[in-house]
Amino acid sequence: MVANPSVLFPEQAATQASEPSHSSRLLAVDRVSLEYRTRERVVRATHDVSFDVYGGDRFVLLGPSGCGKSTLLKAVGGFIKPASGTITLDGETVREPGADRIVVFQEFDQLPPWKTVLENIAFPLRAAKKLSRAEAKERAQHYLDKVGLAQFADAYPHTLSGGMKQRVAIARALAMQPRVLLMDEPFAALDALTRRKMQEELLRLWEEVRFTLLFVTHSIEEALIVGSRILLLSPHPGRVRAELNSHQYTQDSLGRSDFQQRVAQIHRLLFEETESAR
Ligand code: ADP
Ligand code: MG
Repeated sequence: MVANPSVLFPEQAATQASEPSHSSRLLAVDRVSLEYRTRERVVRATHDVSFDVYGGDRFVLLGPSGCGKSTLLKAVGGFIKPASGTITLDGETVREPGADRIVVFQEFDQLPPWKTVLENIAFPLRAAKKLSRAEAKERAQHYLDKVGLAQFADAYPHTLSGGMKQRVAIARALAMQPRVLLMDEPFAALDALTRRKMQEELLRLWEEVRFTLLFVTHSIEEALIVGSRILLLSPHPGRVRAELNSHQYTQDSLGRSDFQQRVAQIHRLLFEETESAR
């Protein structure tokens, strides 16, 4: 029998401010159910999901395929309206997409191929923030440098590897200086080694820039490494199973037995029926 998650992961997980940058509540998802309605039927993607994201969090939504992670991210992005419940950012109800929430996707083709790397980053700045051409270019160069691709400013996306394209996508998103950076399995299409490298780089970037991250993955290891807090979602339709702290894990934890035990524990919580899941 599996114990109640709140016993395995006591309340400290949800409430304790673990780093100085964890300050005010930025994003509040409150009892949100999300549905897709077609003419024939209604598909419930998530049921009654609640969580809070604080400034500087690396908040991870973790759950099996089809549990509604992408749908939740789209709702936070303002692309889908909740069937019930509310989503607020800085106290304001989210009703539509906005430059305060930028999404990085899994796909490598999210960069327009006819623009150079620098233009790809500068263009949304020009479009949304009304920066001058020179200011947009300067901001774009700054973030390109941050992801280690300064020398690829004039390259076109098709000449870059998958990992490099994802770096450009991250630079483009960060350059917009969103309140929350949303990432939907951004490294899932990369080979294993590149994926690890990208996780490391994301953490290094976070140390430097201290953005607030809402990150979706179905990989338990990735969630533990990337996240400072993790929300575990049940299989379809997604409900909250538990919330836990994970800021103590890094790439170096991978081989350690306490890390592997935590992975096994989360696996049980995700896939076994528990009292709290009924
Ligand atoms: P995840 O990202 O966790 O894999 P999704 O959010 O993509 O899950 O999907 C959650 C559920 O909603 C799944 O059952 C999926 O089949 C369903 N779903 C996703 N997109 C649509 C859609 N456009 N129309 C109908 N059902 C959808
Ligand atoms: Mg998804």
